[in-house]
Amino acid sequence: MATRTSSSDTTQSGAPAATRHLFIDGSWSPAASGRTFPVLDPYTRETYAHVAAGGREDADRAIAAAAAAFEPWAALPPAAKQKLFQRAAEVVERRRDETAAALIAETGCSDGFAGHMQDGVQMNLHHAAAWAYEPRGEVLQSNYPGTYSTAIRRPLGVVASITPWNGGSILPWRSVLSPLAAGNTVVIKPSEESPVTAGLLVAEALEEAGFPPGVVNVVPHAPGEAGPIADAFFESDAVRCINFIGSVATGRMLAERAGRTLKRSVMELGGFNPLLVLDDADVDYAALVAALSAFFHQGQICLNVRKALVARSIYEPFVERLLEHTRGLPVGDPRDPKTLVGPLINERALETALERIREATDAGARILTGGGHEGLVLEPTVLVDVPDHVTVAREETFAPLLVVRAVEDDEEALAIANAPLYGLTAAVVAGDRYRGFEVAGRLRAGSVHVNTSTLNDELHAPVGGVRDSGWGRSGPQSVDDFSDVVWLTVEGGRRPIW
Ligand code: ADP
Repeated sequence: MATRTSSSDTTQSGAPAATRHLFIDGSWSPAASGRTFPVLDPYTRETYAHVAAGGREDADRAIAAAAAAFEPWAALPPAAKQKLFQRAAEVVERRRDETAAALIAETGCSDGFAGHMQDGVQMNLHHAAAWAYEPRGEVLQSNYPGTYSTAIRRPLGVVASITPWNGGSILPWRSVLSPLAAGNTVVIKPSEESPVTAGLLVAEALEEAGFPPGVVNVVPHAPGEAGPIADAFFESDAVRCINFIGSVATGRMLAERAGRTLKRSVMELGGFNPLLVLDDADVDYAALVAALSAFFHQGQICLNVRKALVARSIYEPFVERLLEHTRGLPVGDPRDPKTLVGPLINERALETALERIREATDAGARILTGGGHEGLVLEPTVLVDVPDHVTVAREETFAPLLVVRAVEDDEEALAIANAPLYGLTAAVVAGDRYRGFEVAGRLRAGSVHVNTSTLNDELHAPVGGVRDSGWGRSGPQSVDDFSDVVWLTVEGGRRPIW
């Protein structure tokens, strides 16, 4: 059996840039084409790894392996599945620092965020161990005496998990745990930006934990080459669900294809997340919530705040405190444990952010702080007087950009917050918690948090979007997303059929 990696060359810093294979049917192998592609460290811009560039042939092979593994995996008793998840949690714990270093190198996330994610993954695996018992059914009434009428849950088959780069390890793990716990097998197509942490390391941990061959497979691909792998998913009868976490544009396209091919889809998409600061809020706390919610992970989490809507009566002091908190954020090298805001993922992300800032300032917006960059590290940027029509005022930008706007009252704040069709998450900061709760209840989002950040994310909780932010939920409820309800009856004796 091939090993996980083969030859290695050396980066400027002396760290090895290993060549990483794809993972199919329990084996590590090069891509059928023999090609690899380089993955760059967003901060140093050195090659972090060379990764097998998978294609259609590899995807077909991975789907076949997952299909063959499906029935035995589905039939494995929950106690056996539970043990495997628990062992995987032990592997994740043992490899915490090594994986955290990989996350920093591959995605540019801060040291603190990397460790936090690994602790979260470990906790999630402990939860998932119990989810193996989660698929449950009902005993129904029947009008036919002696009949047992039941509704049971059955896994779907092969789930294709298409994972993003921006959620580090949390989202890739989330994308496999519920499908596996429900009894499905999985093919992961990781993001081309982070194939190691968004796929290959998940497979390594599951392999080490003893998951049977074929239960999880990973097919990375070079930039611009997702298409043939997606084609394999949609054209396979064995693939029953497209489990997507990513942008609204890609999600829309995949959901359309899933509709045409009658595959279930689970869509966790982006949003345009508002923070409402009510007039009785603790101004300093609200400003701190705004700064961290907007700029953590350099604004590249789908849960980051994009727009702060602040009661006019406290707007001036709020902005003053926001600028102080923002300017105090440690920015720069993600390997420095103090850093909170590191590099954007790539040049394209930086160019998009700078272009959107320019568009806003050309239309009359003012930059109160930030706007500059060093390498891919963009300063946390606060924008005011932003006209509604410009892109940063209405669309998610994966960058540390925050639009701040004064509002007259709660009604105006709600109207602006609910105007975009997105609905991923939102937050309200209020002095009176009950008033905050009432306002929160009127926000159209899949999660709403009072007096804390939109980044609030507990892995057993039902996180997910409404409206254009998608459907499907994380946590134990998500087991329902990855299983079918089947009505199963047993007659007591002979009965007239009609
Ligand atoms: P981002 O622009 O933030 O990377 P995307 O939605 O493009 O967000 O990426 C999320 C995931 O979707 C990644 O795994 C990416 O490779 C995948 N993806 C992008 N385009 C396609 C496509 N045409 N078919 C299938 N997957 C795709």
